[in-house]
Amino acid sequence: MKLKNKKVLVYGLGDSGRSVIKLLKSKGANVSFYDDDIRYFEYVGFERNPTEKEFDLVVLSPGVKCIGNKLLENFREKEIEIISEIDLAYLFAKGKIIAITGTNGKTTTSMLVYKILKASGKKVFLCGNIGLPFSAVVEKTSKDCVVVCEVSNFQLESSKYFRADVSCVLNVMPDHLDRHGNFEEYLKTKQKITQKIKSKDLLILNFDDFYAKRFFHKKCMYFSKKILKKGVFVKNNQIFVNKKPILSLNEIFLKGEKNLENVLASVSICSKFKVASQDISLAIQNFVPASHRMQNLGEINGVCFIDDSKATNLASTLACVQAFENEQIVLLMGGQGKSIEYDPLFEKRYNIKTLICFGKEGRTIFECAKKYDIQSECFEKFAQAVEYAKEIATKGDYVLLSPACASYDEFSSYVERGEKFKEIVLRQKL
Ligand code: ADP
Repeated sequence: MKLKNKKVLVYGLGDSGRSVIKLLKSKGANVSFYDDDIRYFEYVGFERNPTEKEFDLVVLSPGVKCIGNKLLENFREKEIEIISEIDLAYLFAKGKIIAITGTNGKTTTSMLVYKILKASGKKVFLCGNIGLPFSAVVEKTSKDCVVVCEVSNFQLESSKYFRADVSCVLNVMPDHLDRHGNFEEYLKTKQKITQKIKSKDLLILNFDDFYAKRFFHKKCMYFSKKILKKGVFVKNNQIFVNKKPILSLNEIFLKGEKNLENVLASVSICSKFKVASQDISLAIQNFVPASHRMQNLGEINGVCFIDDSKATNLASTLACVQAFENEQIVLLMGGQGKSIEYDPLFEKRYNIKTLICFGKEGRTIFECAKKYDIQSECFEKFAQAVEYAKEIATKGDYVLLSPACASYDEFSSYVERGEKFKEIVLRQKL
């Protein structure tokens, strides 16, 4: 794509938008920008009325909601091309691209893949939804490198060029229905990961996931926790790549069945990059999960505290509760809801001793749990709920913060919520 002297509007000024501006400028484009958040008004180059201008191209940040967006409709009417941040980055990236998507497990899997490839001596970049935008690393890429890109639905929503040499779909569960409207739309967006792949590209799918398994491409590879004829699978407590044993399950310290799926996905991806089995096995053994993902904060007076603040939908909370199903659980849930049903969690009960709800969605979760006679309490504020959990938990209990909701009713992000949890948990009683 030729950008020299082209008039380009960057819509959305978060981290991605700002990297896009830099990239566009380096390509000689004439860049303006806009955000629905008027806090950016003061910046030079900010378009107060972008509809009054003629642009050659609009680059969208993943944070911008597409459905029902009047401004975007206006651009479309004027036949202005609209692309996503990962589209733009893709057009200038060199080397091989790995795209990892799914409702849950993206960050864990992307980090695992990055660690394994790094251990094998490859020049590798980790970017996308995970933190550093794809457009921020593009200029550093070269023919011999591998880019591991965590791809969220928000990034896929407006993508039309993005293509990866190896794409992986971990799972598809209801999430972000507040933004996508309904599950069908959400699923359709996820399927966009396959829209541009060529016959030589590889699509890696989770055989154990109802929807992911049904994604289609000529060259598919499956992974499963059960025995498969080929692909990556578990047999006799060992992970196999086709007929070759790679790693024993005892060597994996990540907790829970769902993390095993993340490991299987990583092994599948890395098997396509000629990585030695020892490198795979060592990197997985030494892997430390990212903060706020089933992170063990330690034991206080015999009670174990787990920070899973990143669990912002029901499937991820289920993954956490299942990982601790042999323990007595005090479960903290709530925050800002995403129009989902909580029955699949409570009808199985697991080992939930007490459920403590909080925030905007607290009452809805509380009412749902009541239908299944689960001992529950409801608090308006997050801090009150955590204090209460500390008070009632007894020796041997596991207090899990695995909220199944976004954090925006009280916090700026799941990170801030997790940090608050840690602070309260570790605070000594006066
Ligand atoms: P993502 O980047 O897709 O949000 P993470 O790796 O950050 O995924 O994990 C998010 C949450 O989802 C974690 O809190 C964890 O409990 C849960 N989780 C991790 N992997 C999976 C998986 N494969 N399936 C379901 N839940 C998962």
